[in-house]
Amino acid sequence: MADIVDARAIHKHFGPLHVLKGVDLTVAERELVFVIGPSGSGKSTLLRCLNRLEEPTSGSILVDGIDMLDKRTDINRARQRIGMVFQSFNLYPHMTALGNVALALRKVLKQGRAEAEQRAQAALARVHLADRADHYPGQLSGGQQQRVAIARAIALEPRVMLFDEPTSALDPELVGGVLQAMRELREDGMTMVVVSHEMGFARAAADRVVFMADGMKLEEGPPGQIFGDPQHERTRAFIRQIE
Ligand code: ADP
Ligand code: MG
Repeated sequence: MADIVDARAIHKHFGPLHVLKGVDLTVAERELVFVIGPSGSGKSTLLRCLNRLEEPTSGSILVDGIDMLDKRTDINRARQRIGMVFQSFNLYPHMTALGNVALALRKVLKQGRAEAEQRAQAALARVHLADRADHYPGQLSGGQQQRVAIARAIALEPRVMLFDEPTSALDPELVGGVLQAMRELREDGMTMVVVSHEMGFARAAADRVVFMADGMKLEEGPPGQIFGDPQHERTRAFIRQIE
């Protein structure tokens, strides 16, 4: 079966800064790939290149068979296949949880109000927030707000979900609920790329761990290997430091 994500030789320059130096990343259907590495190593830039929030300087990116860098590709349609969750939840404060999720469906999929709200309600139920649908973001904990953001992304039925440090802004006691939502998403068969410092989650849930440093993928393998028997000296130093 073809990979859902097939990114090859991705380079990204920001002016004089060479931030991605020929990164390959493939993600198979239903696979959870975890990306770790020091701050500034290019993890966020790599994720943002996948859905073309950043324009790679060179390389090739196929997502679900669609050439993301082909000028003829309808990028807005292509992006519908890629859900993204950031450290900041970016919910509209004046709209309820349901309203936030439904808005995405109305805007992106052009659904009518009734259909959008029905689907939004189902998406909230998947992250165990059915009973918070009429709450405003200010009435929800950070963890619940992040789960609304996850619901907003999965409501669009993406082929792959990208998570960029989804729990980094949360108080420690709120992290578990978000990781649980991600775990369930994975059990439902979602293909996922996760940038995170939650190494316990990586060990338990990742199929593969990618270690990046200085804009390069230095090592990748099953979590048991990367955490238990890292080959690259930079990986060893990083793992020692975080554990
Ligand atoms: P990570 O997510 O691994 O911490 P990033 O992808 O955010 O790393 O950043 C990699 C490098 O690219 C850093 O040196 C960062 O300062 C730089 N960078 C990221 N975004 C931009 C930008 N829009 N303009 C200039 N430099 C950027
Ligand atoms: Mg980052």
